[in-house]
Amino acid sequence: MDPEQFDPGAFDRNMAHRLMLAAGTQQIPVLLVRGAASGKTLVVTAGVHGDEFEGVRAILEVADVLDPSQMHGDLLAIPVAHPAAFWSAERTSPLDGLNLARVFPGNCTGEPTEKVAAVLAERVIARADFYLDLHSGGTAYAMPMMAGYDASDPRSSAAARIFGAETIWGHGSIPPGRTISFAKSRDIPWIYTEARGACRIDSGDLKTMKQGVLNLMRHLGILMGRPTLRPIRLQLYGDGDTDCGICAGREGFLLNHAQLLEEIRENQMLGVLVNSLGELLEEYRAPRSGTVALIHEHPVVKPGDSLYLIADCVR
Ligand SMILES: [Zn+2]
Repeated sequence: MDPEQFDPGAFDRNMAHRLMLAAGTQQIPVLLVRGAASGKTLVVTAGVHGDEFEGVRAILEVADVLDPSQMHGDLLAIPVAHPAAFWSAERTSPLDGLNLARVFPGNCTGEPTEKVAAVLAERVIARADFYLDLHSGGTAYAMPMMAGYDASDPRSSAAARIFGAETIWGHGSIPPGRTISFAKSRDIPWIYTEARGACRIDSGDLKTMKQGVLNLMRHLGILMGRPTLRPIRLQLYGDGDTDCGICAGREGFLLNHAQLLEEIRENQMLGVLVNSLGELLEEYRAPRSGTVALIHEHPVVKPGDSLYLIADCVR
């Protein structure tokens, strides 16, 4: 479908619609579940990074169990936001090497990834009353299951608390180019998730994501009933920018000594990089005390890869 023609409000109520939106040569899948009654629209995306699979499955399975006759409002879901990256199971696009989560709001006459961003921004995310972006550690990283939110927006922090993740992460600022920075530019409240990743779909994380989507729909009044709450065990703070972690200076084999969500002290050893003879190339120590929020799970690393991210924490 030509994205210029895509108007969710023109589709019949009380049913689910499946369609494809064209973005250059790529086809973006859309699941639009329109409730029998009018109400808010929750926009959910997954697969912004093509090697993150938990959210893709969560969207497909949630869309399957929704009953439009019981809904007041709409779910507008994009299970695979970046098809070229997804079908090659890569974080970035094999067509132009770009990271979709760094090029928003996109450019409809630009590179293939910028065209996808432009369609997602103006045709999908801009239609949201609330926006949820499902991420995970992907194939390279491991991250805790958590909900990230805009610490300056009470709508966002309230949603993070009802999502159902035991770890939440408040961000004071969001760098440009993200799906969520575009949402913020339109005053659309948002949260995003991370999950274990590490090239698998953890069954517990999948359950949390599915419950989280349903919780948000209840929170927004699209579904009746109350969200299923879980206690929040860990509150993280800090910018959470995976581009700004502790990085590898060279190629090597990572011997990791840290655990996800481990409390670490300043200067504590996190891991070492060795060559194929086991000779030490680099060592990585915590630049400050905090909580380990990201580990490069794939042990073969390239120069510039983010290996660790340390967040501030209140337990
Ligand atoms: Zn991601």
